[in-house]
Amino acid sequence: MKEVKSPKKPLIYYYCIALAVIFLLNNLLFPKMLEMQIKEVDYGTFLSMLEEENIEEVEVEENQIVFSDRQDPQKFYKTGRMEDPDLVDRLHAANVRFGSEIVQQASPIVSWFISIVLMILLGQLLSHYMMKKMGGGPQSMTFGKSNAKIYVESKTGIKFSDVAGEDEAKEILTEIVDFLHNPGKYTEIGASLPKGALLVGPPGTGKTLLAKAVAGEANVPFFSISGSEFVEMFVGMGAAKVRDLFKQANEKAPCIVFIDEIDTIGKKRDSGAMGGNDEREQTLNQLLTEMDGFDGRKGVIILAATNRPDSLDPALLRPGRFDRRVPVELPDLKGREDILKVHAKKIKLSESVDFNAIARMAAGASGAELANIINEGALRAVRDGRKFVTQADLEESVEVVIAGYQKKNKVLSDKEKLIVSYHEIGHALVAAKQTNSAPVTKITIIPRTSGALGYTMQVEAQEQNLMSKEELENKIATLTGGRAAEELIFHSITTGASNDIEQATKLARGMITRYGMSDDFDMVALETVNNPYLGADTTLACSPETSAIIDQKVVTLVREQHQKALQILNENLPKLHELAKYLYEKETITGEEFMEILNRP
Ligand code: ADP
Ligand code: MG
Ligand code: ZN
Repeated sequence: MKEVKSPKKPLIYYYCIALAVIFLLNNLLFPKMLEMQIKEVDYGTFLSMLEEENIEEVEVEENQIVFSDRQDPQKFYKTGRMEDPDLVDRLHAANVRFGSEIVQQASPIVSWFISIVLMILLGQLLSHYMMKKMGGGPQSMTFGKSNAKIYVESKTGIKFSDVAGEDEAKEILTEIVDFLHNPGKYTEIGASLPKGALLVGPPGTGKTLLAKAVAGEANVPFFSISGSEFVEMFVGMGAAKVRDLFKQANEKAPCIVFIDEIDTIGKKRDSGAMGGNDEREQTLNQLLTEMDGFDGRKGVIILAATNRPDSLDPALLRPGRFDRRVPVELPDLKGREDILKVHAKKIKLSESVDFNAIARMAAGASGAELANIINEGALRAVRDGRKFVTQADLEESVEVVIAGYQKKNKVLSDKEKLIVSYHEIGHALVAAKQTNSAPVTKITIIPRTSGALGYTMQVEAQEQNLMSKEELENKIATLTGGRAAEELIFHSITTGASNDIEQATKLARGMITRYGMSDDFDMVALETVNNPYLGADTTLACSPETSAIIDQKVVTLVREQHQKALQILNENLPKLHELAKYLYEKETITGEEFMEILNRP
């Protein structure tokens, strides 16, 4: 994909260079040459030379006459001009060539003036030529205030094949590309295609990538601008930019306009009395007006991307504007595997790499994270001086992306190491003993840069889309297992469980307020999720009294599971000791080793 840059900057350079050259010629070269060769004589000498037909050429200027010697054409003279009405006749009579150029002998001021005029003309010509050259094809255009980057088709362009997974999104966008290629097919039936499509999904799922792929596939101009580029210091500037963008787009139809991160300008307009943000509202209003204003059949299609669809102004989403909503969700297992493969094409891999296993380990990872996993693996291979990337490299990089780098120089005291060992085995043991929990694949007590002193990795065999109440409860029990082991063995508790506590609380709350999994509240929603794609923070939608009861219920639920975990560990104390000792010595153990010891009689 090639980006066409504004030619403004180079032009200034050309102006400067032209200026400098002319300046040099004028002030340094010409005057000296003229001084050397032109001799000043009086008018009488001129007349007598004319009489004797000794003059070859003459140039009559406003206040002087320059002439050359017939005998020696390199010799020039000049003289002041007199009031002489029949000078021309006499020049004729003397058989003199006149009016032709001899030497440009204008005064410095006149020549300076002329050179400036020339320079401006030259500059104009040059810029005209450059604009023409750039505006030659149908893919590019002139530049206005909108700063929209224009992508022109090129061989390196991103295609749909570069976007793995996201088949539904690709299908919808393919239809749009097809409409731009043969609109007749659609208008024949009377169908009018949507004016706009909104790509929504969490960060890093490939929304921007998809839009670029549309540009690569569609053989039409593609305007790309980010919502934040409309945000200006002065009221009205953003609106002007919108107007300008659509003016350009209309001129170049059929074409695609892509507004990335549209939530920056498309936020719900305030109804508050304080007036809100004037600039943003004006920009949004202008956008709405422009979207209504243009003719859908002309072939201007507007794509936009956001990860905050909930915050968009409803007016943007009504039919006739962004009436198509294209979900770009986090990839499923198959999608993750495909994305890994797409990115792995760029690197050298050992033959034993099992993408399915990596994809299973990286549950919940976005496309951007998966791309990062591949790259981290390649970097690790280089660091170790290997020529290709192995399975181990990729597994380690999944952990890097999930938990951060290994903190090799962080020194845990022996006591701390022992506590962490029991804590992690506590998680793993509780998980393994509850039939519904996924088996552990790896347990480690090597500290990570994320702050984790150790962790237990669980990899589900296949993707789980639904979770039962029991499974959720077991998950909470597993989360409390670490702290439970500390209590049982050391009879004291540490700060090491903070992350577990956070997760357990979130799950327990969700069960009560959103999933209808408590007897007391039945199927009543007590919380609403604000922005599902960004952190999923929630707002309570109940009375303060109910809120207090919810808090109570959450505590009860977590306590129950905590007790269950304690009981499980208590029943398996010998195994807990054996496994924890083993982990303490080895620092990292695999799921197989764990199960082998656990099942050993
Ligand atoms: P978004 O705009 O949704 O936040 P991007 O499109 O910027 O995400 O994605 C960032 C990077 O992640 C891309 O450049 C690409 O390398 C990778 N990526 C994300 N999703 C995919 C996908 N579905 N297929 C291949 N690569 C992807
Ligand atoms: Mg993006
Ligand atoms: Zn823990």
